[in-house]
Amino acid sequence: MQQSFPQPSFTLAGQTAIVTGGSSGIGAGIAHVLAAAGANVAVNYSRNSAGADKVVRQISEQGCRAVAIQADVSSEQDVARMFDQTVRRFGTVDILVSNAGLQQDATLAEMTLEQWNRVIGINLTGAFLCARAATREFRRRGMVIERSAALGKIIFISSVHETIPWAGHANYAASKGGLMLLMKSIAQELGPQGIRVNSVAPGAVKTPINRAAWETPEAEADLLRLIPRRRVGETADIAKAVLWLASDDSDYVHGTSLVVDGGMTLYPGFATGG
Ligand code: NAP
Repeated sequence: MQQSFPQPSFTLAGQTAIVTGGSSGIGAGIAHVLAAAGANVAVNYSRNSAGADKVVRQISEQGCRAVAIQADVSSEQDVARMFDQTVRRFGTVDILVSNAGLQQDATLAEMTLEQWNRVIGINLTGAFLCARAATREFRRRGMVIERSAALGKIIFISSVHETIPWAGHANYAASKGGLMLLMKSIAQELGPQGIRVNSVAPGAVKTPINRAAWETPEAEADLLRLIPRRRVGETADIAKAVLWLASDDSDYVHGTSLVVDGGMTLYPGFATGG
């Protein structure tokens, strides 16, 4: 039987993406890559308007369309307004990249309820609120088969800490572990409706969130011991995985975490022991 091998088609032409936490780090990288693939991009931020404006300006200079939208993803009202503003500007939303996240580190005995609630509120509740709003918009708009084989795509930016326990960061690890089962549960629920749901789980990527782990040569050497690939990740490593998950080339990928970590989840301590 003659088999044909289609060319990859990483185009997102005519589609609109919301990238939460697009003002910095991984989110900014994702906004750039999705825009370069033809998507209109709503660049969400909570406080860093200068960062979001810079991303929008750079995207516009490439001849692509983007808008900065302030919203705290842990606020139901803000998330509703962010989707309204995006739909008014670009007509609909085809892709949600739920990336906004932060750390508030403390040992368990020292952790305040405020630190716990803030991390869960943004990393997990924020992801729920954005996924719910995206699902409602996908259903309102209905299928546009010329644009995508899916009614919509939801991509969560999780972490290797959805599976690796992390002492001193229990709120963060709990938020990402919860995100994994949020992703899988809604993938099971929304798949029959044509909505694809996946996560990208990064390892260590050079951004402001983990500056202390890579900014001195000693810290970076320590970190590299945990990474068999022996380099710290770049935002582009994550953004290119997100682009694939947002495109129809990954149409049969559903309900999975794509781990992009240079091998951090391979129990590198066992390379010489065990
Ligand atoms: P980052 O540079 O600190 O960026 C975090 C982004 O989240 C910023 O744009 C920030 O916007 C936004 N944000 C924070 N609170 C928000 C809120 N309440 N509402 C809306 N946006 C909010 O960190 P990053 O490394 O790029 O992290 C992005 C995601 O990747 C996070 O979910 C993080 O857990 C995950 N991740 C990162 C790594 C890594 O090594 N860097 C590894 C695994 C997973 P403002 O500055 O405007 O508040």
